[in-house]
Amino acid sequence: MPRKKAGNNPEQDKGRKKKNKRFQSVRGMRDILPKEQPYWQKLRKVVEKIAIDYNYNRIDFPILEESELFERGTGKNTDIVDKEMYKFKTKGGANVCLRPEGTPSVVRSYLQHGMASQRKPVKLSYNGPMYRYDRPQEGRYREFFQFGFEAIGEQDAILDAQMIQMATRIFKSLKIKNVALHLNSIGCEECRPSYNKLLISYLNNRKKSLCMDCKRRLKSNPLRVLDCKEEKCTQVVGQAPQTVDHLCGDCKTHFTSLLEYLDEIQIVYSLRPQLVRGLDYYTKTVFEFFTEDDKGAQSALGGGGRYDNLVGILGGPETPGVGFACGMDRLVKVMQNSDTEPYLPPTPKVYLAQLGDAAKKKSLRVFEELNKSGVMIAESFGRGNLRSQLKQANKMNAEIVLIIGQREALDDSVILKDMNSGGQETMPAEKIVKEVRRRLKKNAEMIKKIARQKTQKKERDLVKKKKSKKTTKRKTPVKKNRKK
Ligand code: AMP
Repeated sequence: MPRKKAGNNPEQDKGRKKKNKRFQSVRGMRDILPKEQPYWQKLRKVVEKIAIDYNYNRIDFPILEESELFERGTGKNTDIVDKEMYKFKTKGGANVCLRPEGTPSVVRSYLQHGMASQRKPVKLSYNGPMYRYDRPQEGRYREFFQFGFEAIGEQDAILDAQMIQMATRIFKSLKIKNVALHLNSIGCEECRPSYNKLLISYLNNRKKSLCMDCKRRLKSNPLRVLDCKEEKCTQVVGQAPQTVDHLCGDCKTHFTSLLEYLDEIQIVYSLRPQLVRGLDYYTKTVFEFFTEDDKGAQSALGGGGRYDNLVGILGGPETPGVGFACGMDRLVKVMQNSDTEPYLPPTPKVYLAQLGDAAKKKSLRVFEELNKSGVMIAESFGRGNLRSQLKQANKMNAEIVLIIGQREALDDSVILKDMNSGGQETMPAEKIVKEVRRRLKKNAEMIKKIARQKTQKKERDLVKKKKSKKTTKRKTPVKKNRKK
């Protein structure tokens, strides 16, 4: 029977297509490729350093949590819980979700592991992926990364100021300029009910001008109407009563203290009466950081605030808390357009080349010995051609190349080629570690000496330049006088 040509058999075609399918990452989720990693590493290092400097301990918590944790903690009527949470039932029937943010998880862990008995505030920091099923666009993903800091157990406004100070230091270390701090106080359960009444009555009178979402929010979470981005709502909200004008005595004192602390550490803020943050648990302080690019487009880098009721809401004893989180994807993007230097990992200065099967086997051992002694080393074990290996060594600017050929494999020796001087010698394999280390150390000292001489020359040139400027300045008035 003649074989059917491709395309004549739909079943076969379908099978072939299925087999050849190239998979893509899921919509809204992306790979962070090696070329981007130096910026991510830089960011993680800066955040880790701040955590150490301010005595925050690292915490990791699962990506999967009970949905109810966020429904109760973040709030059922918030966008990230109501609209954006990845929720599903496990095979065992548990209602779980992919974490949309970190704070409720940190508080859950704090309660679950009895951290309440530790000295307060309990300071915790984290970073990792978060998940929100929102419409993906530039800078907004369904899987994105956040780092965050939480201090649980202290109500003093100095902690709020310190959180802001830490975030500011991170932005400075990353050389991110033009970061604006927006600040507000949204009161507490003492003063918020009466404020809410005022706000509802104000908004009810203008209900027709609100968007559909805000008409709904008016019932479920009126405060959220304040930060709606719809043009018609922002117009209504512009004249709405402001939370800061209706704070109780305690909240007023807290906010004033915070502003005084910020003045003391010279952090510039901009008071934003419409800033409420999207989450239910905030009390008193709320803040957000924005940056502006060359074209004037604003991007939210992160935000946070005080959550004095959250521990209680999640079943613990009433305990105050404050924290903030920043979007790492956005920070990396801003870093790439700023003067931020990415993290450059140390590169190997030694290259190990081999020729022939016996040499290949020996190379594995030499590599291991050098590596164990702390020498970073590169190789292309898969390649048999010596010329292509030496080309590779040149490309990576190796200072030393070690070559093991058939003969060296037989008499247990290694050829050491010094790429700076061009000279080479054969030596017993057992001496190679000591010799490589000696030469690398000598090279490093030489590089340091050259760098020192360069800076000294620069300094001398600068002094000379300054001196010559002074003499020309002195000459100028004489010339003027002569002209007269
Ligand atoms: P939030 O928890 O909503 O206050 O978000 C804190 C920060 O996380 C924001 O300022 C953003 O920088 C970042 N972020 C929030 N959602 C996303 C997202 N879908 N994609 C990328 N970054 C995000």
